[in-house]
Amino acid sequence: MKIFLCAICNVSSGNCHEDCQFCAQSIKHNANIKKYSYKMLSQILEEAKLARKRGATGFCLVTSGKSLNDTKLQFICEATHIIRAKIPDFNIIACNGTATFEQLKTLKKAGLTSYNHNLETSKDYFPNICKSHTWQERFDTCEDVNRAGLNLVCGGIFGLGESEKQRVSFIESIKQLNAKTVPLNFFHPNSALPIKKKPIHVEEALKIIKWVKKELPNVKLMVAGGREITFKDRQNEIFKAGANAIVLGDYLTTSGKDIDKDKKMIKSLGLNIAKVYND
Ligand code: SF4
Repeated sequence: MKIFLCAICNVSSGNCHEDCQFCAQSIKHNANIKKYSYKMLSQILEEAKLARKRGATGFCLVTSGKSLNDTKLQFICEATHIIRAKIPDFNIIACNGTATFEQLKTLKKAGLTSYNHNLETSKDYFPNICKSHTWQERFDTCEDVNRAGLNLVCGGIFGLGESEKQRVSFIESIKQLNAKTVPLNFFHPNSALPIKKKPIHVEEALKIIKWVKKELPNVKLMVAGGREITFKDRQNEIFKAGANAIVLGDYLTTSGKDIDKDKKMIKSLGLNIAKVYND
């Protein structure tokens, strides 16, 4: 089995006016995180080169906020151009919230490979975790990602208080969307957030990975946010459970594991690290 590594570049951070209850970037929660508008393009390129050198096959350009707008679109297109020119074999992903079909087509023309937009949870549980926009808007964007010819990256977050039935419904929706990569996030508590749940128990989290793998055997199944706090010293078990992709380095607002330790762990399990996206 090959393991895919993906690095995240938090292009703009915090100051989001949406009220997602699990997200430290919402202005409503006043969480103690780094906030800034756009990173310099030169810095983004350096981060991309370093990620590739360290073995990442994917590089995700993430912006905070609900949607793409003209300024963001132009910036992400420029960043994509610059990275693509220097690293032709990179899976460049954008994660910029809801987007129109036209905007997604523009990103595709700029050289983008994939677009990440998460459903987060089931349609009926979503109003419990966000009131400022709808689940349907998210679903519609995901459909447009497919129509625009981009690879869809679509997953969500577990441990927000959703029921088993709601987890099943959430995964059924991901199936409908034919996502190529499915990131599984596990809630990482933060005292500033309105959700007061403890991290999911490791056994339950492993069970979730196994179950999703059974439901979606052909996707790249990525364990993303919450990996460290949920699995602690049992991180090696996520691969046995069925995950074949992880986030390398830091997440958006939380620190990740040491990159070399992650790579050492993968090799010690006799697994190979994918060299290119279509490996
Ligand atoms: S998940 Fe996205 S839309 Fe929701 S608060 Fe965070 S940055 Fe804003």
